[in-house]
Amino acid sequence: MCGIIGYVGHQQAAPILLDGLARMEYRGYDSAGVAVRSETKGLQVYKSKGRLQVLSDMIHGGADVEGTLGIGHTRWATHGEPNDVNAHPHVSEDGRIALVHNGIIENYHELTEQFHLEGSLISQTDSEVAARVLDALYDGDPLKAIQKLQELIVGSYGFCILFDDQPGSVYAIRRVSPLVASYTHAGAIIASDLTALIPYSNQYFVVPEDKIVRLTPYKVHV
Ligand code: GLU
Repeated sequence: MCGIIGYVGHQQAAPILLDGLARMEYRGYDSAGVAVRSETKGLQVYKSKGRLQVLSDMIHGGADVEGTLGIGHTRWATHGEPNDVNAHPHVSEDGRIALVHNGIIENYHELTEQFHLEGSLISQTDSEVAARVLDALYDGDPLKAIQKLQELIVGSYGFCILFDDQPGSVYAIRRVSPLVASYTHAGAIIASDLTALIPYSNQYFVVPEDKIVRLTPYKVHV
């Protein structure tokens, strides 16, 4: 099973995301990626097939990536071969939404048809379909769009989501797939595995299924 992580706070996000992903490496994976948002650069996505070290070298341990909120992923492919394009995060066509996904979207074929996505998907993953459906549902209200997405998806998922026009918030939901969250002086953090939270706090809570979680600096809202 893969690893997902989200962070928002007052520290540079990319090194924290890479550290969290490294702590979850023991679970196994075939590719890795991060998306970080900054005021000046918007959503920046970096991803690569292979070891986390390849990604880390690409962005100099995160030092090169501006921004204090972001999401990260180590992938264990279920739909589509392990390659750079299929690696997460997946981004909506207009680039305003980025998400990472842990799990399997069983009805991704049906959703592809329903939302007329044939021919415009760039990856072979079920996860990109979720990014594109969310984009189609999004009219500026993240909670409404995520709730509709939840109603449409059949399968298992942990999602961490960034909206380019929602600075200061990372959104997450889960069904079956695990997610735990915590907040400290460093910021709010969420991950699919407790090991990623260890450097920040020994207090955490298990995200309830089907509840939308919004992380802001110092707070986790359910
Ligand atoms: N089903 C997704 C994919 O193949 C996510 C796999 C995972 O949990 O890493 O990209």
